[in-house]
Amino acid sequence: MRIVVLTGGIGGARFLLGVRAYAREVGAEVTAVVNVGDDLYLHSLKVCPDLDSVLYTLGGGADPERGWGRVGESWTIRQELAAYGAEPSWFNLGDKDVATHLVRTTMINAGYPLSQVTEALAARWQPGVRLLPATDDRLETHAVVDLDGERRAIHFQEWWVRYRAGVPTDRFVFVGADTAKPAPGVAEALAAADMVLVAPSNPVVSIAPVLAVPGLRDAVATGPARVVGVSPIIGGAPVRGMADRCLEVLDVECSAAGVGRLYGGRSEGGLLDGWLVAPEDDGVTVPGVTVRAVPLRMTDEAATTAMVRAAMELV
Ligand code: GDP
Ligand code: CA
Repeated sequence: MRIVVLTGGIGGARFLLGVRAYAREVGAEVTAVVNVGDDLYLHSLKVCPDLDSVLYTLGGGADPERGWGRVGESWTIRQELAAYGAEPSWFNLGDKDVATHLVRTTMINAGYPLSQVTEALAARWQPGVRLLPATDDRLETHAVVDLDGERRAIHFQEWWVRYRAGVPTDRFVFVGADTAKPAPGVAEALAAADMVLVAPSNPVVSIAPVLAVPGLRDAVATGPARVVGVSPIIGGAPVRGMADRCLEVLDVECSAAGVGRLYGGRSEGGLLDGWLVAPEDDGVTVPGVTVRAVPLRMTDEAATTAMVRAAMELV
């Protein structure tokens, strides 16, 4: 059994804990294809927020309360940068986290592609699943905004972290997507998969940028694997974060039905064979898709594993 998971950062990382546990039970092989649209350079360091969330979470090094970054983090570098008045100051870089970005940036500058850098970082964290960036090429999510009476595109991280998703926004653009190629192994993993799971990640800025890499949407939609998604929206609200703000930009209703229909049924030209929703959303329908209601709160690994089992058994 081969499973491919399409994923963003925090929500996807927690989901992967359950996928890994399920895979160990049944002897399945897991490949996670991770969003790179959030990646950015800060103080000359290449930062990959979603890949890092997945590495730290699966490697047992994530801060469980904050949800992002390293457990037992200290902030000396941030304080020293602030003392210089160094910008940008809106993105928090912890000291331990900076070590990851230093290793990554050194390798990138030496000419290694992101996929090989990720493999090198994974040698330390032993995530227990194969981690692949969606692409080795530059693919950045930008938000088109009106700021100070001017229309411009800002990096998604600036929109999300600095402005808390609070500035008037027209749309999101995946810069570089038209010429990006899937990272080595991604297309092969999709072609060999029995099951593709769409993690309960942000559909607009975590899953969509993965599918924006030319060829990947088709590889999922027309590939041999069954495709089951898990709703990040429960009872009309995101479980954590501001996915509602992102859905609003697309004019998509913030509901399990809204996101399910955004992905769409494979028989209708969309992606999904199955869609898991929470008991609060029982009765939701998506044309051409098998929908089932099961508990979707990832409170601990056992609950998440049960959720993954339900996804695996849905279609
Ligand atoms: P990010 O890249 O760090 O923003 O993380 P993701 O995009 O992977 O995940 C964010 C999404 O995870 C949010 O839209 C949340 O609604 C969703 N999420 C977080 N915790 C849970 C949970 O326990 N259950 C479900 N179903 N979704 C969750
Ligand atoms: Ca993210």
